[in-house]
Amino acid sequence: MTDTASARPAHIAVLNIPAHGHVNPTLGIVAELVRRGHRVSYAVPEEFGPQVRAAGAGLVPYETTLPASDRVEDWPSDDPVAMLGLALHEAVSVLPGQLRAFAADPPDLVLHDFGALTGRLLAHRHGVRAVCVSSTHVSAADPAERQARRELFEELFHDDPRWHEYQRGFRKLLDDAGIGMSVDDYTGQPERCLVPIPRFFQQDGERVDERYAFVGPCLGGRSHQGHWREPAEGTPVLLVALGTAGSDRPEFYRRCVRAFTGTPWHVVMATGRLDPAHIGPLPDNVETHASVPQLRVLARADAFITHAGMGSVLEAMHHGVPMVAVPQVNDQPVNAARIAELGLGIYLAQEEATVHALRDAVFSLAADPHVARRTAGIRARMRRLGGAAAAAGLIESQLPGGAGRWQELARRLEFAGDHREAERAVHGTSAD
Ligand code: UDP
Repeated sequence: MTDTASARPAHIAVLNIPAHGHVNPTLGIVAELVRRGHRVSYAVPEEFGPQVRAAGAGLVPYETTLPASDRVEDWPSDDPVAMLGLALHEAVSVLPGQLRAFAADPPDLVLHDFGALTGRLLAHRHGVRAVCVSSTHVSAADPAERQARRELFEELFHDDPRWHEYQRGFRKLLDDAGIGMSVDDYTGQPERCLVPIPRFFQQDGERVDERYAFVGPCLGGRSHQGHWREPAEGTPVLLVALGTAGSDRPEFYRRCVRAFTGTPWHVVMATGRLDPAHIGPLPDNVETHASVPQLRVLARADAFITHAGMGSVLEAMHHGVPMVAVPQVNDQPVNAARIAELGLGIYLAQEEATVHALRDAVFSLAADPHVARRTAGIRARMRRLGGAAAAAGLIESQLPGGAGRWQELARRLEFAGDHREAERAVHGTSAD
């Protein structure tokens, strides 16, 4: 990657929102940038300090106005205008502190999660480039689709004063910063964006242009999570984890316990904020933890019952672990459908995920040689993607004095025909 290397160590600002599913995909990139001699200052609430510092960054803490990410019930997820209002309110509230912190220590580049709305403002203030990170599918990158979505919103919320307030508030934020672009372009059209998923997993991946660099999972930088004691060699391991937001489901965990009691499987359950006492008595072959070092467990696991959050799905694909996907919200149903389509696991809707169905799904995945071949194929394919090294190389190309040429480099870094190669890897056929 000589033509992407920057001439000197740089100071990189990273801005993120307080959610593990967004912070985790950046940790491997941070660790790689630090390894290459750059200094990283990471703006996120103090709660995320341990992982950010362990990845090698300095913490620039801010106080969030958002509900806690693991309290799904506090988020107005079924009210898009309320969600937009929350995001704008957060941006207005955290911006002054972020501007102050970085005025004293100017960045050479700003890397920001797509939900960290202050990212481009900060980059603009310092006259440096912004690079976005999309922790999941790129949404409606196609211009016609974007236009249709804009029109739909206008139509749906025309009479909603909160929608107009949002537009006015955002306009003011951009005007005050001297940014002339539309709110829609500011929030939805990054000039350059790292996507830590493979293009073949992105919905309509071939239609997404090269402002989006599909570098694949940027794993690593998770030393803060500590160790996990493996069971004896030869014991099959099942991980049950529902991400960091939706684990408050004692009934679901109870079903998993019943499904695997008296079987040879060793079950590792991540229960998040759910008190394991609410699950009931646990047999010897089940261990529970509030949080597990998921990458370590997946490296040893033979099957994974998952909510199909993007991070978890990528991590399972990276380790070649077949999945029983029981999605809940957001992008999870789309991910679960893609898992089934690629033959990497079984999609069970919530109401289908009975004790018997869960047990049958895990048993059949573990016994199926075709599944083993497909997960091994995907594992190999995932490891050929550029990951954190490609992401760091692209970031370096955008530093002052770097090579520039984002789209050309993104194209070269991603294998041409990636989608077809992946289809061949999993199905042994061409996708044409
Ligand atoms: N995670 C973990 N230990 C746990 C539960 C989750 O390390 O006990 C990590 C997991 O590896 C993934 C992230 O938290 O990186 C969850 O992200 P995902 O997109 O799967 O789900 P979300 O939490 O955003 O719903």
